[in-house]
Amino acid sequence: CGYVALIGRPNVGKSTLMNHLLGQKISITSRKPQTTRHRIIGINTTEAGQAIYVDTPGMHDNEKRALNRYLNRTAETTLVGVEVIVWLIDGLSWQPYDDLIFKKLEQAGLPVILAVNKVDKIKDRETLLAFFAEAQQRFAFEHIIPISALKKTNLQQLEALVMELLPERDLIYP
Ligand code: GDP
Repeated sequence: CGYVALIGRPNVGKSTLMNHLLGQKISITSRKPQTTRHRIIGINTTEAGQAIYVDTPGMHDNEKRALNRYLNRTAETTLVGVEVIVWLIDGLSWQPYDDLIFKKLEQAGLPVILAVNKVDKIKDRETLLAFFAEAQQRFAFEHIIPISALKKTNLQQLEALVMELLPERDLIYP
């Protein structure tokens, strides 16, 4: 049992994933970035244990805007007290800013699961494999998993991995 943060750039699918993991519409999903402005929390109870998921505002590269600075601080302070990080990237397009997020997450010193989202959009296997090889090389985290938050692909595997990485503790919520 423990706290799990969903981190990533705007629009990578954090809220969609959160809603499916919790089986209810708790986070607002939108094509429009910056919809999640506060931390949103929900509990996922499975036979393997409980995970308390914390959705965060997307992280932004342009810190000149006060709102972006605020959103980045909120995302970063969310990491305090968290035990596992699920970092989402968009399977079709990562951006230089992802490299920066990678560095921040490396420094956080917590277990990170890199969830490569939107793989439903990658139609041929070769593109998917090439993408994966590159992602593994660039973002050298031990745990990397392709998912589709929208189509619910591999979400059970992701859930199981999260439970595995969380410390063993008694259930704390009914
Ligand atoms: P957030 O800003 O990171 O919370 O992203 P959202 O969850 O709001 O999703 C942004 C957009 O991406 C929405 O239009 C979602 O429907 C879409 N989206 C999220 N996950 C997936 C996915 O796995 N596949 C596809 N094709 N679209 C997705």
